[in-house]
Amino acid sequence: MIFWLLPEHASQAWGQMAMALVALVGAVLLWRRRYRLGIYWMASGVWLCIMGMSLFHEGVRTPIYYALPIVVIFLGWVVGTRAALFAVGITIAATVALIAADMLGWRPAVPPSPPLLHGIAQSFVLLLSAALVIYLVQAYRERLQEMARAHEVLRQSELKFATTFNANPVAGSIATQSEGRIVAVNDNFVRDFGWSREELEGRTAVEIGLWPDLAHRTQFREALSRQGRTMNHETVWRHRSGELRRISISSSVIELDGVSYILSFCTDITTRKAAEEEIQRLAFFDPLTGLPNRRLLMDRLDQAMTACTRHQRLGALLFIDLDNFKTLNDTHGHDMGDLLLRQVAQRLAGSVREGDTVARLGGDEFVVMLEDLSRDAIEAATQAETIGRKIVSALNELYEIRALSVHSTPSLGATLFGAEIENIEEPIKRADLAMYQAKSAGRNTIRFYDPRMQSLLLARAALERDLRAALQQDQFVLHYQPQVQRGGLVAGAEALLRWQHPQRGLVSPGEFIALSEETGLILPLGERVLELACTQLARWATQPGMAHLTLSVNVSPRQFQQEQFVDQVLAVLQRTGAPPARLKLELTESLLISNVDEVITKMDAIKARGVGFALDDFGTGYSSLSYLKRLPLDQLKIDQSFVRDILVDPNDAAIARMVIVLGESLGLEVMAEGVETLAQQQALQALGCHAYQGYLYSRPLTVEALAELARQTGWPIMTLRG
Ligand code: C2E
Ligand code: MG
Ligand code: MG
Repeated sequence: MIFWLLPEHASQAWGQMAMALVALVGAVLLWRRRYRLGIYWMASGVWLCIMGMSLFHEGVRTPIYYALPIVVIFLGWVVGTRAALFAVGITIAATVALIAADMLGWRPAVPPSPPLLHGIAQSFVLLLSAALVIYLVQAYRERLQEMARAHEVLRQSELKFATTFNANPVAGSIATQSEGRIVAVNDNFVRDFGWSREELEGRTAVEIGLWPDLAHRTQFREALSRQGRTMNHETVWRHRSGELRRISISSSVIELDGVSYILSFCTDITTRKAAEEEIQRLAFFDPLTGLPNRRLLMDRLDQAMTACTRHQRLGALLFIDLDNFKTLNDTHGHDMGDLLLRQVAQRLAGSVREGDTVARLGGDEFVVMLEDLSRDAIEAATQAETIGRKIVSALNELYEIRALSVHSTPSLGATLFGAEIENIEEPIKRADLAMYQAKSAGRNTIRFYDPRMQSLLLARAALERDLRAALQQDQFVLHYQPQVQRGGLVAGAEALLRWQHPQRGLVSPGEFIALSEETGLILPLGERVLELACTQLARWATQPGMAHLTLSVNVSPRQFQQEQFVDQVLAVLQRTGAPPARLKLELTESLLISNVDEVITKMDAIKARGVGFALDDFGTGYSSLSYLKRLPLDQLKIDQSFVRDILVDPNDAAIARMVIVLGESLGLEVMAEGVETLAQQQALQALGCHAYQGYLYSRPLTVEALAELARQTGWPIMTLRG
């Protein structure tokens, strides 16, 4: 091979060097993508070399030398620039080697090629060169066409882009350069944000104040670089008027002519967002107070319970119920009740720490959830109690509602959670139970959950169920306790309710009146009592020795407060035919805490028919004496608690005397209840008391037993044995 490559004389190496030079320059031009020039250069250069050298050299070797670089360059063109450079390198190295071999005389003598072979070889090289030139020209043309096609595609997509950009039917479009300068906006953008094209184009979004908060812009940029070339993002932009708009942006980074742009389509979602938030608010917040509702509370409790178990901390639930809310609502109307609830909500929110939850469950029930308390149960309970006490005192402050000062108190039940894994309903139930405990401990206080409560409450629920059934099955009866005048005349009786329970026997009202009041069962129950009492009165009216008796009937505040109470009483009188003047209604002082005027109006209406009124348990309540003067009363009943110790406790004696004096000055009869001994009766008589009721004379009796008593004594006079 080497033999064929070596020139016969040193001067013959010039031709090869010229070829190498042509090849080198051609390769450089191709490498620099100057295809057109490269092709011209190589075609003409190679051709010139061949022509020039053919004149001076003979032999078949020469055309092969000429062909060598052409083939090398052809391969380079087809295979790649690197291959061409490599081939050029080899050519140069071979040429240098030839020159050196020539000068040192190492070359063996080579006989000249025969002319025919030489001619064939030369023609072959010429043909090869021509074919190469034709190929290169064609390849170049194809390349040119390809580029033109590519340009056309690019132009088309630019056009399309411009159409989407300018004529997007809904979204505002904005294109910025990567450093933020606004390049273009469409009409929608101008419409949506108020700036004109001139104000926008060429300036940056930050300059004109499109970003109200630069942190939003940073977020946007970060999101874009994180998510790659396209992304959807929600943020806040500022309208030219200064109004903040919530927008949804869909952005892409595009590259045109080597410059990258951020193209964003933005839709104003302020209204949609507001609607979504409103739906959210309605679903999770109480419309009256704006506090979280039960659903949201459950949600947060669920999270808090998980967090507490994970971080080994305890949380607490405070269940809050307003003590006299129902009365306020009934007497002053629901809108007053609503205003009170709002103020309560504000005070609650003001009494807890930032991260705590205040929720309204409904009605006058609120729940406060405290998180992140100590991991020690005693300490956590103390923390919860401190906040609970703070709430109690905050809710005790007077409420100013529409020029009215209202006093309201809460009962709080508290429990801890987070010590063990449990259902979210459990702590709520416990706090609710504890709240009832606070109620039965006298209200306006806080109680922690105590497991013993559970059984009590179960019994309570059972009692309520039984009471309802008892009403339907008519298990209630009245017993009658004689009321005796000074001198021993039995002038009347008090009707006292008894529950004739199928299993438990006679149940006294102390066991069920309070619950009936709470549950509202007192309304049908009270009506039933009135009915029974009046029926009895009507019967007595026809019986000798009984016709003169008055009958006192206890009326609970809630019963009296119902709107139709007056009508109810009048209707019962009418229905039963009982003489109204013989009926006496016993009211309690607790009725007088609210709306005395309304009470007086009702009393007057009933009194107009001749029905009398007594104030029961007098001295235990807190009625203001100034009211007393205005009430159409007939009788004060000294509570039995003062009678019990009248002989031993000078305070009780003083109170009894005060009631008697008060009754005298107001022109009212004063009756002492719970008189058990003659000594008590005498002491009361000495103080000026007019009438007595108590075991001293008789226990409450069934109607038959009372008749029996009448037969056995000097009825209607009851004489007492000392
Ligand atoms: P009250 O109206 O003050 O009735 C007097 C209570 O004292 C009755 O208890 C009676 O049995 C009891 N008592 C009478 N004399 C003596 C005595 O000498 N010593 C002692 N220790 N007690 C005496 P009772 O019948 O258990 O009724 C308790 C309360 O239940 C009543 O107190 C009244 O507030 C309420 N109540 C009873 N019946 C009705 C009713 O029909 N409707 C309403 N709303 N409440 C009623
Ligand atoms: Mg009574
Ligand atoms: Mg009483």
